[in-house]
Amino acid sequence: MSESEDNRIERDFFARDPEEQQAFLTQTWCDHCQAADLGMTDPIEYELKKTVFIEGRCCGCGEPVVTELTDENF
Ligand SMILES: [Zn+2]
Repeated sequence: MSESEDNRIERDFFARDPEEQQAFLTQTWCDHCQAADLGMTDPIEYELKKTVFIEGRCCGCGEPVVTELTDENF
């Protein structure tokens, strides 16, 4: 039970530039569909261990999809 290992910082996806939001919502990879760019709905954004995650649901199958952003493209 280590809090420091798992302290997720909520971020505001909708504070991003609209064009950027659109790009994140369309440029996805779904493990379930094994296909790229199906798109996602219901995005949430958070930071964990120096990585930003944008998590939503695949437009193709409804399974969760996650996009990871490294430091370079925050
Ligand atoms: Zn899918």
